[in-house]
Amino acid sequence: MDACKAAGCDAVIGMGGGKVIDTAKTVAENLGGLPCIIIPTVASNDAPCSGVAVLYNEQGVVVKAVMMRRNPDLVLVDTEILSKAPARLLSAGMGDALSTWFEAEACRKNGVKTMARGQETETVAMMSRLCYDLLLRYGSEALDGVKRGEYTPALEKVVEANILLSGVGFESGGLAAAHAINDGFAQEPQAHGMYHGEKVAFGVLTQLVLQKADAQTLEEVLGFLARVELPMTLAQLGITEIREETLRKVAEAACVPTQSTKNLSPDITAEDVYQALLEADRIGREYLAR
Ligand SMILES: [Zn+2]
Repeated sequence: MDACKAAGCDAVIGMGGGKVIDTAKTVAENLGGLPCIIIPTVASNDAPCSGVAVLYNEQGVVVKAVMMRRNPDLVLVDTEILSKAPARLLSAGMGDALSTWFEAEACRKNGVKTMARGQETETVAMMSRLCYDLLLRYGSEALDGVKRGEYTPALEKVVEANILLSGVGFESGGLAAAHAINDGFAQEPQAHGMYHGEKVAFGVLTQLVLQKADAQTLEEVLGFLARVELPMTLAQLGITEIREETLRKVAEAACVPTQSTKNLSPDITAEDVYQALLEADRIGREYLAR
């Protein structure tokens, strides 16, 4: 903000990954709503199109969400640049986008107000579902291309899911347990090296356990996680030593009143989330052992 003021900037351009983008959005907002242009150089999260910026403390714990008065004025995405980005970051973006349908659907079923402070529309429900369908269909093909540093038409579809549909989906749909569990993992130092979307992916699996998803849905999601190399066990999330005390802290943090687990169901307790984390891990290990 100081640099922006000193230089007399009349607009802010955020170019980079999620933290850079959220910083640019916050600067633009705090300086009175300056025009804000976002140029993502990785498709690792759904920050670019949203009007929300998440602030963390030094320990990686969410402090607050800054709501911009309007969404970024321009989001410029060059898929040629994204095709040269690290593959793991594209996977992470798919993890973030994977949650969109399940969380928005939970909010819709429960009549929860969206982050944009309105009601979820059928259009957003359709966009969230399209987000999920594009990932299932093109996810592994896009990832293979990026591993070779090659642009593929499949990447175009996945970028649309990761950046556009996921952003609109969570903002005009809503968040539920998957993101709350991601935030809860800030309580587990072993998971600190993991990306947002990787923790969200495991959060999706945990949410599916909490909502007692049918076997077919679980199978579909597990297959996707495996294909695009996202974590389905606690060990894959860096948590090689499972400590009950820490895992309970993760579950408790996911259930504080300000968290979105309640959007899945208001009666979910920290004990439920703790048990679901263990069950998701068991399901993931069983899948990997096949
Ligand atoms: Zn997210």
